[in-house]
Amino acid sequence: MNATSDPSPVLFWFRRDLRLNDNTGLNRALAGGKPVQCVFLFDTHILEELPRDDARVGFIHETLQAIHTELVRRGSSLRILHGEPETVWANLAGERSWSAVYANRDYEPYATERDQKVAALLKTRGIPFVDVKDQVIFERDEIVKADGTPYTVFTPYKRRWLEAWNTGRSQAPEPLASGRFLASQHPFPSLESLGFRSSAIRVPPYRIHHLESYAATRDLPAEDGTSRLSPHLRFGTVGIRQVIADTREADDTFRSELIWREFFMQILHHFPRVVDQNFHRKYDGIAWRNRDDEFQTWCAGRTGYPLVDAGMRQLNATGLMHNRVRMVCASFLTKHLLIDWRWGEAYFAEKLLDFELSSNNGNWQWAAGTGCDAAPYFRVFNPLEQHKRFDPGSTYVRRWIPELDSPDYPRPLVDHKYARERALQAYKAGLSLAVPPRTSGQ
Ligand code: FAD
Repeated sequence: MNATSDPSPVLFWFRRDLRLNDNTGLNRALAGGKPVQCVFLFDTHILEELPRDDARVGFIHETLQAIHTELVRRGSSLRILHGEPETVWANLAGERSWSAVYANRDYEPYATERDQKVAALLKTRGIPFVDVKDQVIFERDEIVKADGTPYTVFTPYKRRWLEAWNTGRSQAPEPLASGRFLASQHPFPSLESLGFRSSAIRVPPYRIHHLESYAATRDLPAEDGTSRLSPHLRFGTVGIRQVIADTREADDTFRSELIWREFFMQILHHFPRVVDQNFHRKYDGIAWRNRDDEFQTWCAGRTGYPLVDAGMRQLNATGLMHNRVRMVCASFLTKHLLIDWRWGEAYFAEKLLDFELSSNNGNWQWAAGTGCDAAPYFRVFNPLEQHKRFDPGSTYVRRWIPELDSPDYPRPLVDHKYARERALQAYKAGLSLAVPPRTSGQ
């Protein structure tokens, strides 16, 4: 290895931006003129929580392997690190002289805290930590109300987002900048050496197709009517600027969905307490039933409500679930079964290939009625009506429930009308316990 012959190279730290093209932080690192060593850290704090055949770990590993191969072609390599961030970074920083560490900014509470600790540690060695915006069009405080406070309702946020988009400088995707990668020959570890094995579940490839009719087909789970790009946005195998460039033909509804993603990201940034608390504290008094047996029945897709069961089975088998069906499953768990949204959120977090803390939390709180711009609590989806309306030929439901018409298919776990009334009572009773918010002057 001749890495030591280069004076003070820089490091680029890949996290949820697993691509060489249109990668703002990497381009910034390359533009500085110093040779760049790319690294990725398999963080044991995160890995410890995951099943050994987690499909997301396999996907990350595969994607990194492709990046490594490309870097080898360019005379460099991807250095894979494995351990706790502070220990790994302390070792790396002490190894030789580095002139800076570059990364793309991450907004989740764990990542923010980790980055602050790593930046402080690097500072003690005189190494600047430079993080830049990459995973969103607008971040943190860029879209706020006139008085500087965050938006908590989607429609005015979206209006302001579109104004900023239409009047701001163009945000076109940028190819990999010219620059120099550090000559290095780091070996690429096997998945097994990281303690994992491959999964039968695969991330579908990124491919944008027929989004012209998105608004008409997006709610029909039997159709191939949505983009299926969420895992790619999650891991940054495609950048948001590239997605916008690739979907120019798509209608406004599609753009709105991308804005929902950023809306929930800024909610999590400004209100990190939503991770485990209701956005609206007035719902804190709801007496969840939290029946474990009913939760297990929901997880297994055996509630006797076909649309709910098909969705849960799709999730268990593929790591994905259609958005309309996610809404129905989440509503069923929180309202029909009166199980705390945090249980459902955690189950989705474990299973979803596109698991994103901000979107998952935001949508679960939306479904439970506790969220910032949520469905009103008295709106209880009727899973049978939703089935009739959005899967009228039962094509989707039959795909996941082969025994639908046989005696093996369970009877409904709870009667819809009864469950609806029970939910309304529980929500009303919870709200009556709420302490009224303090108004100014009190
Ligand atoms: P498309 O319909 O093609 O939308 C394009 C992109 O817009 C998506 O990839 C996503 O980035 C964004 N988007 C679409 N709908 C939403 C939405 N409601 N909220 C935020 N962003 C949206 N999405 C996640 O990415 N990660 C999650 O962990 C997640 N958990 C969810 C949990 C529940 C209970 C519900 C109801 C929705 C959740 N969603 C989540 C939102 C949505 O279901 C998925 O983004 C969508 O199904 C992904 O499929 P797609 O890429 O084909 O979406």
